[in-house]
Parts: sequence; structure tokens; C-alpha cells
Amino acid sequence: MERVLSGVQPTGVPHLGNYLGAMKQFVQLQDKADCYFCVVNLHALTLPRDPAMLRENTLDLAAMYLAIGLDPNKATLFVQSQVRAHSEASWLLQCVARIGELNRMVQYKEKSKGSESVVAGLYTYPVLMAADILIYQADLVPVGEDQKQHLELTRLLAERFNRDYGEVFTIPEPMIGQVGARIMGLDNPEKKMSKSAESEFNYITLLDDPKKIEKKLKRAVTDSENVIRFDPETKPGVSNLLVIYSLLTDTPVSELEKRYQGAGYGQLKKDLVEITIDHLAPIQQKYHEIRRSQELISILKEGAERAAQTADDTLRKMQEAMGLL
Ligand code: ATP
Ligand code: MG
Repeated sequence: MERVLSGVQPTGVPHLGNYLGAMKQFVQLQDKADCYFCVVNLHALTLPRDPAMLRENTLDLAAMYLAIGLDPNKATLFVQSQVRAHSEASWLLQCVARIGELNRMVQYKEKSKGSESVVAGLYTYPVLMAADILIYQADLVPVGEDQKQHLELTRLLAERFNRDYGEVFTIPEPMIGQVGARIMGLDNPEKKMSKSAESEFNYITLLDDPKKIEKKLKRAVTDSENVIRFDPETKPGVSNLLVIYSLLTDTPVSELEKRYQGAGYGQLKKDLVEITIDHLAPIQQKYHEIRRSQELISILKEGAERAAQTADDTLRKMQEAMGLL
């Protein structure tokens, strides 16, 4: 059976980009593969974070995993910091990765832009991510398009380690969707939707109430043509709305284009508001049921124990291969 690993940062409530680009795939994969899904709270330390808020956000995201339909009996659900092998393996891989490689990482360049107090962890972030994946010997990593470069680095580090120290790692493949792998910001469809965007009009979170959803979608940037056509180059805003619509309803974009021939953006947005509200309602209900339950804590504890068994085994192999006592 194939092994799958992926994670989301507890940096705020997941948005439609996280959901359609990555998390929705998690739910399908849990029936077909040996899945490990984690809340990557160590990654969240790479930008300034209030400790109390990080703690809350971590549990919030774990509850969201369950709310979207992940089942702890099918997939291993855990919090990254509760499995110590992630940090330890990360150091070992920092001694395999090269400065020149990290210098090329686009996410680092973007997230460090304009800041004078960038922490070293933001720079070595991709190495921790490589450790996350490799210690589980993952075959497949479902992620959004923005993580493709990090996945390529992960493969490179695994290959180099295997060559220099002996075969330890499985070489993972990224699993990036054909559509939806890059949901764009509603207020700026030239850039990806992001939890850490400055304006809340950039994204729709999975916990937004109907009023917010309506307000944000109505304000979504389009163009002045008023023709509903998929063309990400010249019509990024409308194309983005079509992709979201398509993925939420499992309808091909081409069919939506036909359906909305002659209609205006107002109609498209109005329908999408309704579809989004209906799609998120059951997720939100489940989320509120599970968030304050004790069950959440015990699911994470068991998940971490299970995850550690796999991760520790690989870590031991890494240490032996590198000559550590
Ligand atoms: P942050 O701004 O804090 O980095 P984020 O929105 O980028 O938050 P992450 O936790 O970094 O979210 O990413 C979680 C998963 O969601 C990753 O697989 C990532 O590739 C995917 N993802 C993030 N943004 C998008 C997007 N706009 N479209 C599709 N997938 C996305
Ligand atoms: Mg991100």
C-alpha cells in the first residue's frame, strides 16, 4: 500500500485554497493509502506567532481535519511537534542540504521580503519539510502548486543522502491536482490565496459565516468584459471563481462555461455564494461539535504514538548511516 504524508500550518483557519488544493484530496486518499496527516506547528514558528494563539490554532486545525471527514481509524492524524523525530531528522538533513539550494527557494524570498528580523528557521523551513516527508518513507505528497519547489528539494536531498550514506529513503512524488492546485486571492487574482494575506478579502475560510461569504465573493475582483469564460491569462478573477465553483460541485469548467453563456458576473457570484455556504455548512457543524471534545486530545495522542513508531525507525536508520552513536 502506498504511503501518503501531508501537513497544513496552524497559521489561521484554512481557506478554500488549502481545502481545494490539498485537504480535500486527503479525504479521498484515506480510503486508498496508508495516510499520515499532521498539523505542522513547528513550521508555524518561522514567522512571529503568539504562543497562546498558536496552541489554539493547532487544536482548531486538528478539529478541522476531522470536520472535513478525516477518520482517525483510517488515517494517522497528529501534531508535528509531538513526534520528536521531525526536529532531529531536520538537523541531520541540514547537514545534507546546501546553502545555494536554500537560496533559490521562492517561498523564503517571498516571506522574508521587507522584514528585517527574519529568523533562521524561515530559511531552513524546506529542510524541515523534507524531514517531515522522508521520515515516513512517503511515496506521495498531496500539496498545492506552491509547494512544488520544496518537493523537488526533498527529492534531491533524499537522493543525495541515499547516494552518500546508503539507501535509507523512499523518493517521494508530489501529488498536485490538475485544477485547483493554485486557487488565487479573491482581492488579487494574480497571487495565490494565502492564510497570511493582509486583507481578509483575499480568502474565504472554512469557518466563514454566510454573510461573510457573500460579502467576500461579491467583492471578488473580476474584469469589465462581463463574459463568463475560463482564461486565466486575461481573466484571472473570473477563471478563479469558475475553478472554485467547479471543484465544489464536481462539474467540469467547460460545462459551467456553457451553463453561464449570456449570464453576467452577478449571477455567477450569487450562485457561487449559495454553493459555498451549502458546502461549508456540514463541515462547520461537525467542527463545532468536535473542537471542545476530549476526544480530540486522545485522537492526537494516539496519532502521535503511531506516527512516532514509523518516524523513529527511519531516524534510527539515518543516525546509523551517518555514523552517529
Ligand atoms: P501561509 O500563508 O501561512 O503559508 P497557506 O495558505 O500557504 O498559509 P499552508 O499551511 O502553507 O497554507 O499550506 C497548506 C497546504 O495548502 C499546502 O499543501 C499548500 O500547497 C496548499 N495551498 C496553500 N495555498 C494554496 C492555494 N492558494 N491554492 C491551492 N493550494 C494551496
Ligand atoms: Mg504556505
